Amino acid sequence: MNFNLTILGSNSALPKINRFSTAQILNISERFFLIDCGEGTQIQLRRYQIKFSKINHIFISHLHGDHIYGLPGLISTFNLLGRKSDLHIYSHSDLEPILSFLLTNIERNLQFKIVYHQTNTKEKTIIYEDKKVIVEAFPLKHKIPTTGFIFREKQQLQTLIKEKIEFYQIPISKRKEIKDGANFTTSEGKTIKNSELTLKTKEPRSYAFCSDTQFSEKTAKYVENINVLYHEATFLENLKIRAKETMHSTAKDAATVAKMAQVKLLLIGHFSSRYNNLDAHLTEAKKVFENTVTATDGFTLSI
Ligand SMILES: [Zn+2]
Ligand SMILES: [Zn+2]
Repeated sequence: MNFNLTILGSNSALPKINRFSTAQILNISERFFLIDCGEGTQIQLRRYQIKFSKINHIFISHLHGDHIYGLPGLISTFNLLGRKSDLHIYSHSDLEPILSFLLTNIERNLQFKIVYHQTNTKEKTIIYEDKKVIVEAFPLKHKIPTTGFIFREKQQLQTLIKEKIEFYQIPISKRKEIKDGANFTTSEGKTIKNSELTLKTKEPRSYAFCSDTQFSEKTAKYVENINVLYHEATFLENLKIRAKETMHSTAKDAATVAKMAQVKLLLIGHFSSRYNNLDAHLTEAKKVFENTVTATDGFTLSI
């Protein structure tokens, strides 16, 4: 099952030649989730050859321009490409009137439906769920209501070992509970352990996206034991005051959250345009959390 991340944009608000504003694509088993949609996202989708028609769900962390200005253009392109299927957008409730105004005045003949899902910016809630995937939104600490997102693969049912099922003559009515983890008791009263009857399934994978936020211990709680954590690292520690004023994080802040949450890998992004070279961000973060990577445009990861 795929669980692949592609970074489309890794810069903060001001334009930069080689770094676009925040946008990421997470492909979980051919579900292409677009996370944030900064200006130029559709250019980046073309650049990294991601089919527009595959995107049915867009998750927006907050309504600052560098996270949403790509939406009107992308929606317009969807329409030009003849899209008919519903587009689901998960965001703060204020996005709907903003987009609706633009679309009713500029994009009058939209051929598909946009379904808006309101995120709760006060507490952790499930916002999307299907057979294989669950997505949660949780509050971050920024200038306006902002949420992060956690994408989790669901624990798959265990696979039965055919020879064992036949050997113990396990009836069909008992097989579902064994797949769920139950032991089996034979007619003679002997208990057969579940591990003897099933193949072990893989640990479910998870990805957390922490968009614009200042450092918060609460964030670490929300993302505890996640496989891969993306956390913004707009500034370096020498601009800590600026980070506080703008309610952003430093590379050290991001690494501290990763360490507290005991994640496996940290990706840092949302870099201020003042930085051409990001080596200092990496060095600063690695001092606190060794397994850190700078997730710049075009970075891909198979989780
Ligand atoms: Zn931003
Ligand atoms: Zn912001």
